[in-house]
Parts: sequence; structure tokens; C-alpha cells
Amino acid sequence: MKKKILIVGQGIAGTVLTFTLIGKEDLEITILDNNPQTSSSKVAAGLYNPIVFKRLMHSWNANEVIPKLKEFYSKIEILLNTSFHFTMPLLKILSNEEEKQFWLKKSKQVEMWDYISQDILKSYKPDFINQHSGFAEVFNAGFVDLKVFLVQAREYFVGLNIYIQSYFDYSELKIENNATVYKKQNYDYIIFAEGYNSLNNPYFKWLPFVPAKGEVLTLKIPNYDSDKIVNKNLFVLPLGNDLYKVGATYNWLNLNEEVTEVAKIELLEKLKDVLKCDFELINQEAGIRPSILDRRPIIGAHPSEKSLLIFNGLGTKGVMLAPFVAESLSEFILKGVEIESEINVSRFYKFYPNGR
Ligand SMILES: Cc1cc2nc3c(=O)[nH]c(=O)nc-3n(C[C@H](O)[C@H](O)[C@H](O)COP(=O)(O)OP(=O)(O)OC[C@H]3O[C@@H](n4cnc5c(N)ncnc54)[C@H](O)[C@@H]3O)c2cc1C
Repeated sequence: MKKKILIVGQGIAGTVLTFTLIGKEDLEITILDNNPQTSSSKVAAGLYNPIVFKRLMHSWNANEVIPKLKEFYSKIEILLNTSFHFTMPLLKILSNEEEKQFWLKKSKQVEMWDYISQDILKSYKPDFINQHSGFAEVFNAGFVDLKVFLVQAREYFVGLNIYIQSYFDYSELKIENNATVYKKQNYDYIIFAEGYNSLNNPYFKWLPFVPAKGEVLTLKIPNYDSDKIVNKNLFVLPLGNDLYKVGATYNWLNLNEEVTEVAKIELLEKLKDVLKCDFELINQEAGIRPSILDRRPIIGAHPSEKSLLIFNGLGTKGVMLAPFVAESLSEFILKGVEIESEINVSRFYKFYPNGR
């Protein structure tokens, strides 16, 4: 008999997981989402960058995560017959000689060869960008146009008749006599990919979520014609047609999806250090990143209700991490392969109020 799975949430997490699981033998997937106007995935710039600039190291598991994301998004582009994944070099503006020397030293380390350049570019678009102490290149960066990816995915799921537009009502979930029943349907697993809304999920709200509000701007910069992402305390990401995404802010206190004047001023101030040309402000958006205390994804089973799973904690790196993390969860569901401890929800079982 086929295993029935309900995935709650069609953000990056739920969407990538659904694509990872559909078509697998012996699984019957349904995805449910309330399709709000805005969500973290809907406002995200979609950028991926394998470098942590503070320490100039590659990010967690980059050697596995980056090839996986490229394989995954390319496969789905073919399936959906559309383009949304763009590899694009990222130029880090170097502030001063010290930063430049640190970069050059780090770039000689073998484990960094695939990720950062050993040369410093003296100049890039000098009529538009402040040149500071030169530019260093990050390889294996790029972005996913999430508006296209999420909308096309939704249409695909609707076409397969596996999509339900609705809010998951926790009071309709009954777990008794080894059966997990939601609105009179039996499921083998219900997987919650609810982003920061897991804070309202009675089964998972005990997890140490540290959600972070973020805001981004869309600018029009005529004639800049950049085909590279530029970064200095913020990113300027080319979207095409003279449009650029600029972000992002971090705020752990005011957890709502309203755009603010404070965030706009912060981004425009930082932008003065990067851009020296005129631009037009087109749009401002806000969302709430689902981050976890230790900044790692969180997947696996509820401590006592083993049919309830979670896929969350993508934090600032949803695009990059989701394909790799979804694959781990898929292996767990299909073959019982143990989830590695760094991303396993079990690392937080000690926080569960009723014990395991
Ligand atoms: C301003 C900003 C910029 C960002 N930039 C980037 C970036 O450039 N690159 C990057 O990789 N990441 C970026 N991020 C982070 C990225 O957005 C997140 O990592 C990612 O979107 C998390 O996806 P998710 O699916 O876990 O959560 P969400 O996007 O929150 O999706 C959850 C979905 O589940 C639905 N849902 C929740 N509860 C229920 C329920 N009970 N019933 C039905 N539906 C439900 C929600 O409505 C939503 O559609 C950014 C975030 C912000 C805020």
C-alpha cells in the first residue's frame, strides 16, 4: 500500500520537499498551503552564496550543498519548462588593504579554491560603483527567481491535483490508535514546513525558534547593466530590465510583515557606500525568516508523535540548503536512513516539555 504524506506549507521548504518526494514509488503526496500575499519565501531575493564573509570560510557543508542545489533546480527547470535558476558571480567589495591581504591569504587555502578568487579586480563599473580597495570574486554563487519558481510549482501541483489551498487547522488533527487523521483522511506522515508559523503549531512550538524579520528593496538603476552580484554589507542583485534587489535587514523584535521607514533608511544609507549613481526606488518588501537557535536546519520526527515530521530552520539560506536537506528527509522517510545530528530535530528533544 502507498504511504500517504501531507506536506503543510508551500514555501521553499515545502515546495522543494514535494518535488523531492513526488514520483517516488509507494508515496502519495498532498501539499497544503494557505497561499498568503506575502511570506519569507515570497519576498526573499533568492540569492545563494557559499561564503561566510565574517570568517571568510565556506558555509556549512558547501561541498555537498552546492552541487545538490544545482542538480535540483536544473532538474525542476526542465520539468516545469521554465528558467528560474541563474548562476552569477558575486563580487565582494574590499573595504581596505587589510581586508584585501586577508582575502589573498585565505584564497591560497586548497579548500577555498572552488569558492574564492586568487586575483583582485581593480575596477568594476566605476561610473556606478564606489571602487574602495578592489573586488574579489566568489564562485558558485547565483540566485533563484523565487516568484517564478513558487508560482510555477504551485500550478504544477494544482495540475497534478495534489494541492489544497487552505490553512491547516490543528484542532482537526487526531492521533489515536496508531492512526494520524486530518479532516477524516488517514496519513502515514504529516510534514510541517510552515516557516516561522511553526511558532503557532502546538506540536512543534517548543522548539527554540529565533525568527528574524528582514526587508529588501527593489531599485531601478538605468544603464548599470551588471551581470554580477555586488556585496558590501548588503547585496545588489541584478534581476534584469534595469531592476536590482537590495538587502537585507535583520530585526528580531518586531515580528510582523509590515515594511518600515527605519529599514528603508538603513538600506539606503548602506547603499551610499556601494552605489554612486542615481536610482529609483521601486518597491520594499518584508518577511520573517524561520531561524533556529543554532542556525541550522531542523528536520525529523516529533519526540513522541512519530508520524509528525518537521522541515524548518532554513534561516537566511533557504535556496541553498533546501535541496540537500529535503534529500536527507526523503532518505529518512523512504529508507529509514538516520538524519545527521547537526540538522536532526532530535538535538532539541531536551527542550520538549513532556519528555520523549
Ligand atoms: C527579506 C528577506 C530576504 C531573504 N533573502 C534570501 C536570499 O536571498 N536567499 C535565501 O536563500 N534566503 C533568503 N531569505 C530567507 C528565506 O526566505 C527562507 O530561508 C525561506 O523562505 C524559508 O522557507 P520556508 O518554506 O521554511 O518558510 P516560509 O517561506 O515561511 O513558507 C511557509 C509556508 O507555509 C505556509 N503555512 C504556514 N503555516 C501554515 C498552516 N498552518 N497551514 C497552511 N499553510 C501554512 C505559509 O503561509 C507559507 O506559505 C530571505 C528572507 C527575508 C525575510
